[in-house]
Amino acid sequence: MYRYDISFEVTSVCLLILMLSVMHTKRQLYILRNKMFYLGIYLFLALNMIDIVATVLVNHTIEMGSPWKTQFQYVLSIIFFILQQATLQVFLTYVMVAFHKMRGRLLLYKFFNILTILDILAVSTDFIHKQLFYFDEMGVYSNGRLHFIVYLVPALFGLYGFVIVGMNKKKLPVLERHLITIIGIFTILVFMIQILLLPQYQVIYFWSTLVLASIFFTLQSSDYYLNRSTGAFNSEGLMVTMADKMQRKVPFSILLMSACDFEGIKDGFSTKNKQKVYRKIVSEILQRSTIKRKKRKMDVFRDDDKIYILFYDNVGAEYSAMKIGSWVTDGIYIDEIAPKVKVVATMLLFDFPGRIQTEEEFYSVIKYFMTDEYYKKYNVMQTINEEFFRKKKRYDDVRHLVEEAIRTDGIEMYYQPIYSSVRDDFHSAEALVRLRDKDSIGFVSPEEFIPIAEQEHLILQLEDLILRKICKFIQKANLQSLGVQYIEVNLSGNQCMQVDLADQLTDLIQEYDIPPNFINFEVTETSTIDSNNDYLLRNMRQLQSIGSTFALDDYGSGASNLKYLVDYPFEIVKLDKSIVWAYFGATNPKTRAVLPYSVRMLSKMNVRIVAEGVETLEQRNELIRLGVDYLQGYYFSKPICELDYLQFLREKNCS
Ligand code: C2E
Ligand code: CA
Ligand code: CA
Repeated sequence: MYRYDISFEVTSVCLLILMLSVMHTKRQLYILRNKMFYLGIYLFLALNMIDIVATVLVNHTIEMGSPWKTQFQYVLSIIFFILQQATLQVFLTYVMVAFHKMRGRLLLYKFFNILTILDILAVSTDFIHKQLFYFDEMGVYSNGRLHFIVYLVPALFGLYGFVIVGMNKKKLPVLERHLITIIGIFTILVFMIQILLLPQYQVIYFWSTLVLASIFFTLQSSDYYLNRSTGAFNSEGLMVTMADKMQRKVPFSILLMSACDFEGIKDGFSTKNKQKVYRKIVSEILQRSTIKRKKRKMDVFRDDDKIYILFYDNVGAEYSAMKIGSWVTDGIYIDEIAPKVKVVATMLLFDFPGRIQTEEEFYSVIKYFMTDEYYKKYNVMQTINEEFFRKKKRYDDVRHLVEEAIRTDGIEMYYQPIYSSVRDDFHSAEALVRLRDKDSIGFVSPEEFIPIAEQEHLILQLEDLILRKICKFIQKANLQSLGVQYIEVNLSGNQCMQVDLADQLTDLIQEYDIPPNFINFEVTETSTIDSNNDYLLRNMRQLQSIGSTFALDDYGSGASNLKYLVDYPFEIVKLDKSIVWAYFGATNPKTRAVLPYSVRMLSKMNVRIVAEGVETLEQRNELIRLGVDYLQGYYFSKPICELDYLQFLREKNCS
């Protein structure tokens, strides 16, 4: 009969207490996995302590030769086994939650719960307990013949837990993956040492503590979810928290505040100010976030200029959201001496479970919301309605269509002839893109899908496809012989902002062996404004040096800042339909004056003028009289497919 040693348990207890105190100083995500981790550590701590007391008693009995309070030992052993079982149950729950294995395995999990109950019942039933343990002739509490049974269920739990971890290892970062392999190997080793070499020590417990500590510093580390500059959690943290609630169908609400400006502060929305204001908002919300001592009411997450406030309780969330919203937009004091800073923000309140079921849906709604000027109102608390979802569905459908078109080469180029009154022929045409798929959601205008492609970062792929289509057509159709001098090609705003646009286009023109002067690039005023750096200017100069030309598109539709007309070397200006139609439809003399004076000014600037939207003979004649030499519109032809365009040229230009 040997004396049992408790030094391993004592070390474990010290380590566990240390870990708990560190844990309490750090803010953790309010999710089931973390709760399970906490609970697991507390249970394991209790288990270690009970083990120490029980071991001391057994040792005492062995040394003194007289049993010490037999009843007490009996109760202690029952508590010990219950705790052991509970710890493993929590361990298993932790693993299943952490690896998202609860869904679909609920039945199995319930079966494990039943095992736990049976196991606890078994050890605490007097009759069974006596088969498992007995007091020997010296009064020492000893293992009975069937005592291994009480370890069977915990062993099963442990094993199943390790199987889940092993099977899902690949999802983890490299460091954690290696760590788990090492833990696995050592656990087997430690078990062997425990059983074969050191039965009088609790090596397993000590080892388990080390494993807990390593998980604590890696997988459980909350630093990964923290936004350092403000003390809020970050967007990963939001994702994890949301997934946790959604999976367990726990209701919650989220207030999105997307700031676009600060008022009442020098150099407004600068990075430095942002940090200050956001830190203030976060600390204030954290202060408000705990009611009573333990229960958290809300949490705050930050992702760039977006702040998400998550309410753990739907009741009263709307009221709290309103209060926070008005506090932030009415103005907050960043420091005592400075005046209030007012946040200009878009605010949107979601409640779950509502129309939005998954995290992906949540983010896609936000993304859409931020693009839609109609919904994106400032400092107004908004919730989303039926119409919003209708519009969003259309947006998603169109995006899907564009993705499909890129994948399956599903676009076609149409050409709209441009009439030259000087030569009395169709010297040019504008290439306009069309989606081939007209069945799924009907005809979609480029006016609708180009902005969506831009928003969804699909535009460059789409434009590449467009340019290749145009080049291929020019290459094989021999348009020069049909009297065409150049083709007008639209460039999107995103394209104009690319540093290497000129290189790309030059390569493409060379690849298809097209004379550079056969292409005129159309650029809209907004893209010249957006590319505030001078990339566009450099690109223009480079392309012009090889012979290509540029047109300023949609003149008169937007801000019409003359600066761009003056600063950028455009050869052509295209008068937008709207100012052409305004001239013909107008009764107001002011409106009537815009077109003739624009034409006069542009002629003075020595640019060629193209009028768009010419629909009638009367318009055609009047525009020519005003001095517009080039005309484009339904009067001459709608945009037509390649074959029709060639036919058109043969009829009109070659007769
Ligand atoms: P835009 O560049 O101003 O193109 C002229 C638009 O006016 C074309 O619409 C054309 O069909 C339409 N149009 C021409 N004459 C008339 C007329 O007499 N009456 C009326 N009511 N409309 C006329 P479309 O093809 O629907 O294109 C719309 C816009 O989509 C274009 O405006 C352009 O901004 C963009 N877009 C079209 N194709 C491309 C492309 O290949 N690349 C890029 N980046 N944008 C394109
Ligand atoms: Ca155009
Ligand atoms: Ca235009």
